[in-house]
Amino acid sequence: MSIKVQNITKFYGLQKALDAVSFDIPSGQIVGFLGPNGAGKSTMMKILTGFIPPSEGQAQICEFDIRTQIMDVRRHVGYLPEHNPLYVEMYVVEYLRFVAGMYGMKGQARDARVREMIDITGLGAEYKKKIRMLSKGYRQRVGLAQALIHNPKVLILDEPTSGLDPNQLVDIRNLIISLGKEKTVMLSTHIMQEVEAMCKRVIIIDKGQIKTDDEMTHVQQHMQESGEFVEVEFDAEVQEKDLKVITGVRAANKIANQTWLLEAKQGIDIRPALFQWAVEHNIGVLTLKKKQTSLEDIFQSVTKNKK
Ligand code: ADP
Repeated sequence: MSIKVQNITKFYGLQKALDAVSFDIPSGQIVGFLGPNGAGKSTMMKILTGFIPPSEGQAQICEFDIRTQIMDVRRHVGYLPEHNPLYVEMYVVEYLRFVAGMYGMKGQARDARVREMIDITGLGAEYKKKIRMLSKGYRQRVGLAQALIHNPKVLILDEPTSGLDPNQLVDIRNLIISLGKEKTVMLSTHIMQEVEAMCKRVIIIDKGQIKTDDEMTHVQQHMQESGEFVEVEFDAEVQEKDLKVITGVRAANKIANQTWLLEAKQGIDIRPALFQWAVEHNIGVLTLKKKQTSLEDIFQSVTKNKK
């Protein structure tokens, strides 16, 4: 197993950022670690790369324990941290030689490896520049090059595509897909389309807990099966049982006193029937809006369909 996580819990003071998280990733998979901001993705990745210790639980990278065998863990894992911290006053090639040196590479072997990384990550035109001069997309490539330089078996990439323009996005995605042919890749994002483009498997985490861990194709199926959401505010109190008899309404959740989130059955626009119902019951509709399916809606739908 490339990554093994057993009951990892992490507290920051009193706040629980991870709550008994467990999963295994065998070698050669690209796994998307998806969740809204604050879900615990970066915390998990920092723990797996030995930057912070867990409060409870165990994890191994390529069978090496993250608590007791940290040097072995670091040899086997490449990490692109969130916000990709780099020494911006260094030249690209100088920085990569520096990182290679930290992994014990020297002389010609080190320079050859740096050259190889520059080629793999497409930095050929930019490697003579200072990192400060580079665009966000090229900085991401430098971040990937430093993560890859010691040829790790496992890559942990924290939001590798955040802030990239569409062209850069395609380039970096393709690079990650090609890296995934030989390596185990765990990447975090809060964008569903990112995972759809790159990953076979998706782990969805929210509030420190795993909500789903499934093949991407299954998750896509759940998303298609889940209907649209409509948020409606009435001028009076209404009951869930009354709303659920409206044609096409699958579920009704109260989100404020007189405001409800209604889930429609697939392919049905519930708004005309909803208006009709309100008129018949002499209830005013103050606001009515169709909602884009958000990550939270997907979580709800995925977890509900699984029950
Ligand atoms: P994500 O990467 O999914 O956005 P994080 O792992 O960064 O989530 O954060 C999970 C939770 O832990 C958040 O509520 C965040 O505010 C909190 N958190 C993260 N780092 C720290 C820290 N160093 N000290 C205190 N709280 C933290």
